[in-house]
Amino acid sequence: MVGAGLAGLSVATRLAAAGVDVHVLEAAAHVGGRLATERVDGFVVDRGFQVFNTGYPRAADLDLPALDLGYFVPGAVVRVDGAAHRVADPRRRPGAALDTLRAPIGSLPQKAAIAAFSARAGYWPVRRLLGARETSAAEHLRQAGVGTAALERFFGPFLAGVLLEDRLETSSRYLDLLWRSFARGATGLPAAGIQAIGEQLARRVGSDRVHTGVRVEAATGDGVTSDAGPVRADAVVVATDPGTATGLVPAVEASAPRQVTTHYHVLPSSPWTEPLIVLGTPGGRLVNSVVLSDAQPAYSPDGRALVASNSLAPTREADVRDEVARLHDVAAADLAHLTTVTVTGAQPAALPPLRHLRPVDLGGGLYVCGDHRDTPSIQGAMASGRRTAAAVLRALRPGTAGAA
Ligand SMILES: Cc1cc2nc3c(=O)[nH]c(=O)nc-3n(C[C@H](O)[C@H](O)[C@H](O)COP(=O)(O)OP(=O)(O)OC[C@H]3O[C@@H](n4cnc5c(N)ncnc54)[C@H](O)[C@@H]3O)c2cc1C
Repeated sequence: MVGAGLAGLSVATRLAAAGVDVHVLEAAAHVGGRLATERVDGFVVDRGFQVFNTGYPRAADLDLPALDLGYFVPGAVVRVDGAAHRVADPRRRPGAALDTLRAPIGSLPQKAAIAAFSARAGYWPVRRLLGARETSAAEHLRQAGVGTAALERFFGPFLAGVLLEDRLETSSRYLDLLWRSFARGATGLPAAGIQAIGEQLARRVGSDRVHTGVRVEAATGDGVTSDAGPVRADAVVVATDPGTATGLVPAVEASAPRQVTTHYHVLPSSPWTEPLIVLGTPGGRLVNSVVLSDAQPAYSPDGRALVASNSLAPTREADVRDEVARLHDVAAADLAHLTTVTVTGAQPAALPPLRHLRPVDLGGGLYVCGDHRDTPSIQGAMASGRRTAAAVLRALRPGTAGAA
């Protein structure tokens, strides 16, 4: 295995459970790949704002109670002319139904169209969703009748923060799959940070089988060359980020990478009474800003509020400080800057046509997996890992020992 991100670890857990002599070579000093966390002045700081969604089908592969997730309220705060409006899923947040009905994101029929859109994504069979005519996410929402106000004030900034693009040019099919997860699950943060997800999987593989600090320089179906020397194997799985995968395996093509900049600030206390994401406003630099410690109190060492604010284009803290203050209705002077992170290869684009089941078995004992084979998400990475493990096990003949 090359790479201990969620894709590689998802393969390795399955191969290890099947009795295969599997070893994972990971270039970084930590496991979990793009799900990375560090401590800054006692705060839990993820490498870019990211959340885990329990509606992902592959959530079934994790021990969720052990992650001790802290949850966001499903929905968002929309700011219009300075005033904050709660928009929440009335099925799951009946107390917010009146606020949602009053929120300036369109007429009642348009709000009914939003509810119908969510119900369709949440409860149609996946096969039927994927069988619908494909277009862009923006066109899909327009055709659903959600209206311009909801597009500009709610869907636009909400989806920009997830898809890491604000033209909503992403495939409507990916939007349907994503919205399905939001409609069915809850988003949360592990108490120890987002990296805890990868660490949980790595523990299942076994510390003697996951080798961090080892960079693979070349890979074939017979083995790899690494900076620690050559390794022979009956099967080799390249489970790196898309850019590295295209370098190691020329047959692999990857979509353009999306990027995001996250600014972390500390406030003396949270200005909110519940954990909700605050959406950026049209014309602003930020797509959203969120008090992480409202959802997951363990992110703060002492009860102060940890705020993450995201822009798609690289921004400097000084460029966004006033906007962060406006979104939370606090004084800019109260915001203490903790750190800023820009991730250039955050996730691959998912433009139409969505190719979410790209081949993982390249033949001759060489396999490739990662979010670039499925969808650009935790779900996509883990689903590609599952498909790849099945392909490797078929080739190595389950029940007999083999090395991977
Ligand atoms: C800022 C940000 C926000 C995100 N937000 C969300 C979100 O909210 N929800 C969501 O579902 N998804 C989100 N994602 C996407 C999600 O994190 C990724 O889709 C997923 O983690 C990809 O996993 P992977 O295993 O395919 O790749 P990676 O995590 O990139 O793992 C690849 C591994 O390979 C290693 N590697 C690379 N080259 C080599 C080499 N030569 N030798 C050995 N090892 C190598 C890397 O170090 C890495 O550990 C976000 C991503 C980012 C960066």
